[in-house]
Amino acid sequence: MIVAFRTFLTRLLTHPVLILGAIAALFFGAAFLSGGTVAILGFLMLNILLAQSMNLLTGIAGQISLGHAGFYGMGAYASGILMKTVGLPFVVTVPMAAMIGALTGYLLSFPAGRVREFYLAMMTLAFGLIFREVVREWDGLTGGAVGLSGVPSTTLRNLIVFGYTLDGLDYFRLILIVTAIVMWLVHNFIQSRYGRAFYAIHASEVAAGCLGIPRAGTKQMAYTLGAGMAGLAGGLYAHMIGYLGPESFDLARSIEVLVTTVVGGLGSMAGQIMSAIVFTFLPEKLQVFAQYQFIVYGLILAFTLILLPRGLAGLLLLPPRFIKPSSLRQAVVADVAIRPVQTDRDAALVVQGVTMRFGGLTAVDDVSLELHPGRITALIGPNGSGKSTLVNVISGIYTPNAGSVRFFGETITGLPDHRIAASGLLRTFQDPRLVPRFTVRENLLLGAHRRYRSSALAATLGLPSAAREEAGFLGTVEAVTRMAGISDVLDQPLESLPYGYRRLVEVGRALLAEPRAILLDEPAAGLSEAEMTLLARMIRAMKEAGLMVLLIEHHMDFVAELVDDVVVLDSGRVIYHGDIGGMRQSPEVIAAYLGTAETEHA
Ligand code: ADP
Ligand code: MG
Repeated sequence: MIVAFRTFLTRLLTHPVLILGAIAALFFGAAFLSGGTVAILGFLMLNILLAQSMNLLTGIAGQISLGHAGFYGMGAYASGILMKTVGLPFVVTVPMAAMIGALTGYLLSFPAGRVREFYLAMMTLAFGLIFREVVREWDGLTGGAVGLSGVPSTTLRNLIVFGYTLDGLDYFRLILIVTAIVMWLVHNFIQSRYGRAFYAIHASEVAAGCLGIPRAGTKQMAYTLGAGMAGLAGGLYAHMIGYLGPESFDLARSIEVLVTTVVGGLGSMAGQIMSAIVFTFLPEKLQVFAQYQFIVYGLILAFTLILLPRGLAGLLLLPPRFIKPSSLRQAVVADVAIRPVQTDRDAALVVQGVTMRFGGLTAVDDVSLELHPGRITALIGPNGSGKSTLVNVISGIYTPNAGSVRFFGETITGLPDHRIAASGLLRTFQDPRLVPRFTVRENLLLGAHRRYRSSALAATLGLPSAAREEAGFLGTVEAVTRMAGISDVLDQPLESLPYGYRRLVEVGRALLAEPRAILLDEPAAGLSEAEMTLLARMIRAMKEAGLMVLLIEHHMDFVAELVDDVVVLDSGRVIYHGDIGGMRQSPEVIAAYLGTAETEHA
């Protein structure tokens, strides 16, 4: 019942006819409204822009901004000063406001690669506070605490664009069109590999990195775009009332934008519109509480988080999706799930003298290995023997204390994880790390991220070339899901599925990245018999395609019928490397592992 209602409302609100109809109704209908109402609708558009900007940054990319009013203010003062003092035209100053906002976001997020979200959030807070003080102190440029008056604007009837003096109605129409276009672009962006990458960074930076998604670059892109949109909103604001005062860009304003976004529902573009409507009209009704503004916002936020953790959108709408329906319709199932890789005799992966210590504990101790393409090697050993740590070192999550790793002749020791993934070395995790809110299809498509060639601009503009490329990968997704035996759950959110699916999806996702080598950390743990058969089929297909496979596994039966070689670790040291028959005879292996393992796990 509730689902049916949400489905209906979502279809209705996202229907192109309704959207275009609403824009047209506002565009033409505004002529019949009073000047005051039109002005409020203009502010509504700006609030929508700000909420969309915060949503992209926080709701999608999971980064927090506590200084959004600062980006907004940068744009407002930039456009205001450039026009009033320098005399540049509107068509130049407003795009510059967006660019200055974007540049600010870009510079602020520079430490993104080295620090956690919390730190960046503090940076934005500091920026917001400093911005306001600078505006107050820099009298000559900004008018200081008194404010900057006389900015060409519709209120003063001196905003001239291409020789035409804009009035309030014209200006509202202009803001409406700009808002609609920006939202269309953002929507395209979110439903592209970039939006999925933003959300992947949000869910797990480590997992994203291991799929070839650069975490620092992605976070920085989010700040740049979010701040750019806020700057644009500021630029448009500057010419509405002809006066800019520092109090319009203080911490309260930043908090207001954040609260709007949370109430709307993080991640939902439609939710942001609903919430922007509430927060544009609510403050007027709440005039009486003016001095308790923070308390009111605090209470609204607390009640939302308790009663509607996913905001208005979570209550009324279906969760947002990250693939364009039009690309889905274009997809044709691919013939091959795993494209064969060129193999030569040389070793794929050479690990030399790798040692990894955690404080006093040596987790991996002087390990040397040579693994070849087209072969499956099992990595076994008791719990805590350093198997996962070795995989973490190879895949670039840890930099070893000593030793080196070479992949097809190239030294990859110490490279960031996304660079290693980009060279074709993929991995899965002992604890599956997927995007729980993504559907199976979206999760799998994430794996193909590093293979896209079309640009962010092409995706944002929704160009056919970008759509075709997406459709191509969607075809491969279907081929992989057939092989993995999970075609029937393609459009289910991963969080709604039983555990076994997560393992299969994670392995499939790594395959979408078209690996030359794959490291599987206990992929069979928690799988049913039937699921293990599906997994074995996938692993064999990898071998046939010429991939190098390293498989960490405890089930000896599973290992025995699948692998070519076995490496046994004990307390971080390699105690055996050879075929499985030899391993069963090895006294060291029996003493360290088999004696207990075969009875425990059989
Ligand atoms: P396995 O995968 O073979 O069960 P691990 O590689 O996970 O073993 O762990 C090997 C040893 O290293 C264990 O003693 C574990 O506690 C320790 N270890 C693993 N990761 C860390 C870490 N990030 N910090 C400290 N100790 C760790
Ligand atoms: Mg482990």
